[in-house]
Amino acid sequence: MTIRLYYDNAYQTDFTADVVARAEINGQPAVALDRTAFYPTGGGQPSDTGTLNGVPVVDVRDEGDLIWHVLAGLLPLDDTTVRGEIDWSRRWDHMQNHSGQHILSQSFIETHDALTVAWHLSDTSLTIDLNRIGLSDEALADAERLANLVVQRNLPITARIVSEDELPALALRKQPAIDGPLRLVEIGDFDRVACSGTHVAATAQVGLIKLLRAERRGQETRIHFVCGGRARADYERKHDLTRRLALRFGCAEDDLDTVVERMHEQANANYKALKEAQTALVEAEAQRLLATAARNGSEPHLIVAQYPGWQSEQVKQLALILRGFPGTVTVLTGGAAPQLFVARSEDVSIDAGQLVRALVAAAGGKGGGRGDYAQGAFPDWERAAQALALAADVVADARN
Ligand SMILES: [Zn+2]
Repeated sequence: MTIRLYYDNAYQTDFTADVVARAEINGQPAVALDRTAFYPTGGGQPSDTGTLNGVPVVDVRDEGDLIWHVLAGLLPLDDTTVRGEIDWSRRWDHMQNHSGQHILSQSFIETHDALTVAWHLSDTSLTIDLNRIGLSDEALADAERLANLVVQRNLPITARIVSEDELPALALRKQPAIDGPLRLVEIGDFDRVACSGTHVAATAQVGLIKLLRAERRGQETRIHFVCGGRARADYERKHDLTRRLALRFGCAEDDLDTVVERMHEQANANYKALKEAQTALVEAEAQRLLATAARNGSEPHLIVAQYPGWQSEQVKQLALILRGFPGTVTVLTGGAAPQLFVARSEDVSIDAGQLVRALVAAAGGKGGGRGDYAQGAFPDWERAAQALALAADVVADARN
């Protein structure tokens, strides 16, 4: 049976132990020791990592009597005694966040009678699920405030084993699901719950507890939060972002939302004005083209023009305006990349799709469509110009 050193001292980072069993777990070598400071995955807390005689420990599993250390490589058979070292920064992060979770869970009970029904800790997230919905921002702030007061009171965090008979008198935060002796973790006179995890020795070591967001999940609310080093990293990142934005916009950090709102309104107004100007330009251009289009008896007026600097949306708009004038066939190129736009008015019988297919086949491009409007594209402007030069002949062919 492996002695769990972390139960007596969560601050022990290295130890020596005897190898008592060897195995293979999912194709990786694993060893069990007579004693270990490695915390195995369980109770919501991820396992420790570290080394045994220098061989990396990648996973730690609790099999009841034995704790298995899954290794990245083989531990030599001669190594019957090992020196273990745990990754302290990872463990410390787990301790701060696990203790912070106990504090916040009890804070939600005291402020809003909201019980934590599940919790989860990973390298990147910490959450509790509350059996309540509809908690306001103010309600969340209440619980956060109380949690941070408890941190400042620097209450001792202690653990002890109690028998099943003692439980009824002990008013636990949550009824444990297992029978038999239990390990209780107590935070001064504030909180008492069954827990197998590793904790800091006093609440001040948790550092800041900061709620990030609440998310409704069915009839529960999931609270995302950070404690200690994670809260500091979160603050640092957000402070840096705010500072960079304030520098970028040349304003005080506190004025950022006002400045961004003003810019947003200005951008909307600019966009609206630009669209209006573009429409006016396109309409004026349509009139100019119609005035200069060659009139040739009963033949459709062929309008051919190129707009390399225009947005394709504008050129399309121009083609569609010209389509509204009787007796016209319009062949335009334009856009950021060379595109072809062909439109014909209702009273002209030529198929626009057929024209596009003929033009791209002759000049080298691709495209299609049918009826009174069709589009194509060219790999370069040279081919687009070539298509325009061929337009008169292609239209004449299509009429025959
Ligand atoms: Zn716990």
